[in-house]
Amino acid sequence: MRTLVLLAALAAAVPAQAQFRLPNLDINRLIDTVKNVKKAVTDIGEPEEIEIGQDVASRLLGAAPLVPDAALQRYVNHVGRWLAAQTERPDLPWRFGVLDAPQLNAFAVPGGTIFITRGLLERMKSESELAGVLAHEIVHVLRKHHLKAIQKGAKAALAGEALNQALEERGGAAREKLISFGTEMYGRGLDKADELEADRLGVVIAARGGYDPYGLPMVIQTLQAMNPEDSGIALMFKTHPAPAERLGALEAMQPTLDAHASRPQLVERFKAQARR
Ligand SMILES: [Zn+2]
Repeated sequence: MRTLVLLAALAAAVPAQAQFRLPNLDINRLIDTVKNVKKAVTDIGEPEEIEIGQDVASRLLGAAPLVPDAALQRYVNHVGRWLAAQTERPDLPWRFGVLDAPQLNAFAVPGGTIFITRGLLERMKSESELAGVLAHEIVHVLRKHHLKAIQKGAKAALAGEALNQALEERGGAAREKLISFGTEMYGRGLDKADELEADRLGVVIAARGGYDPYGLPMVIQTLQAMNPEDSGIALMFKTHPAPAERLGALEAMQPTLDAHASRPQLVERFKAQARR
């Protein structure tokens, strides 16, 4: 049934060129791809990645605090850490937080901090949907999407010496510039290709975690059904490809999706844990 819903949405929305296929998709092979690309960012080491992330995260937390509900935060951390444990960077200091904001959004900070807003959580119907969104964000961390964007922007903003200084001296003016740039990036968004990759591999990680991998497509469909003029989703729409395009790109993942579609969605557990 869910497959049919997704296909119907695709049929309505997908232009012909999006109908490419990746035959013989294999979860392990896709995860290996993630492993290989790990080496792509060589200038910023893992300790700096984590440190930059912590600075950016505290800026973002300054804009919206966490929901003051320890049990809810524990639950979301439990789901997120389980998913992160399925990846090749299980030892990052993964942290998941629900921000007390009515808007619908989620974002990943370098080094393993991931935030989801209360507004987005309230629109979800199952743990598999939560897992799908968290897995999408986990991919951003694994592939260092934000880190690479920060690095690229910093190279433009700071001369070579200043970039090294920014990485080495916490609290210096150059570092301040780097972190400001990193924080502003969350209002501009990543490259479209990074977002589509996060969808694709996010579905794989959710399946690896034992979830029905349709969770993420279901959330994208929820977004698609909303009015784009709604101020609660303005930033999400500005920083992500259109839902129809995301669903269209996921059509290539149909074999993976269908192979694991009988896995649990955990609707009741989600309601019990997230809707108190
Ligand atoms: Zn994303």
